[in-house]
Amino acid sequence: MELERAKYKVLICDSFAENGIKRLESRFDVTYLPKITSQELLNKIHDYDVVIVRGRTKITKDVIEKGEKLKVIGRAGIGLDNIDLKAAESKGIKVFNTPESSTNAVAELTIGLMIDLARGISKGDSGMKQGNWLKDELIGFELRGKTLGIIGMGRIGTQVARLAKAFGMKILVNDIVNLDEKILNEFGAKLVSLDELLSSSDFVSLHVTLTDETYHMINEEKLSKMKKNAYLINTSRGSVIDEKALLNALKEGLIKGAALDVFEIEPPVSNELIKLHNIIATPHIGAQTKEAQELAATLLVDKIIETLSK
Ligand code: NAD
Repeated sequence: MELERAKYKVLICDSFAENGIKRLESRFDVTYLPKITSQELLNKIHDYDVVIVRGRTKITKDVIEKGEKLKVIGRAGIGLDNIDLKAAESKGIKVFNTPESSTNAVAELTIGLMIDLARGISKGDSGMKQGNWLKDELIGFELRGKTLGIIGMGRIGTQVARLAKAFGMKILVNDIVNLDEKILNEFGAKLVSLDELLSSSDFVSLHVTLTDETYHMINEEKLSKMKKNAYLINTSRGSVIDEKALLNALKEGLIKGAALDVFEIEPPVSNELIKLHNIIATPHIGAQTKEAQELAATLLVDKIIETLSK
C-alpha cells in the first residue's frame, strides 16, 4: 500500500544522517530537532507517531506517557539504555535499534587505540604542538607477535580479531556463549578462561554488552591478574570497568596503560583518570564515522517504513 505523505509524523531528536532524513521526508512529515531539550521533547511528543534518537536524548517513562500517538521509537545505533523499554512495551510501542551499524567503526577505533598505545602517536603529537621533539622518549613496540585478549566475541569482538590477525597478533578469547569453532579457527584464536586471558595478554580489549554480570567485571582483583606491562582498552561501555580501581592500577603501575572511549559517566565529571600520563581517552567516538551513521540511518528507516506499512 502506498504510504500517504504526512500521514505519520516523525520527530528526530539527535543528529541523524542526511540519507535517512531524506528518505523519511519522502514519505512522512518530519521534524528534525537534533538539539531538542528534554523539556521541549515533553512539550512536543504528543503530536508524533515516531521518535528517533541516538544516545543523547532520553526517552523516559514521562515522554512515553505524553506520547499519546507514539507507535515507534527508533534508536540509530546499539545502546537502548536511554530508552525506558518497560514503559514502551506496556504501551505497545515498538523499539528498534541498529546494532550491526557500528561494528566496523568500533573495531577500527579499537585497533587505532592499540597502535596509539604501542607507538605514542598522540603523545608525539601533543609534544610537537608544545614545541617538544620527544623522539628519544617515544620508543614503542610493534603489535606483530603480541597477544590480544578479547573479552566478548560478538559482532565487534569478532571484527577486532579479524583486523588484529592481519597485524600478526595472537588472539585469546573469552565469552559466556559457546563460540563457533570455525570462527575461532579463522583467527587462530584460543578460547580461555577470563583469568587466563588477563594473565596472558599484552592487550586486553573489552567488547561485552553491559549487563548485571559485566558491570564492573574489570575490578581491582581482575586488574591485579593482568601483566604489569599490559594495556587495557575499553570501547564497550564505561561501567564494565570499575574506574576507581583502574585509576589506582594505573597510578600504582599495576598495568602499563589504558585507552578508553567510554566512561561510567559521560562526559566524565572527574578528570583525574583522563589526565594520567598513561591513558588515552576519546569522547565515545566508536560509532562516529560517516559510514556507520549512514548505515544506522538506512537500517533504521527500513525498519520504520516496514512497520508503518503494515
Ligand atoms: P554483541 O552482543 O554482538 O557482543 C557482545 C558479546 O559479549 C557476546 O558475544 C556476549 O556473549 C558477550 N558477553 C556477554 N556477557 C559476557 C561476559 N560476562 N563475559 C564474556 N563475554 C560476555 O555486541 P557488539 O555489537 O559486539 O557490541 C559490544 C559492545 O560495544 C557493547 O557494549 C556495545 O554497547 C558497545 N558499543 C560501543 C560503541 C562505541 O561507540 N564505543 C558503539 C557500538 C557498540
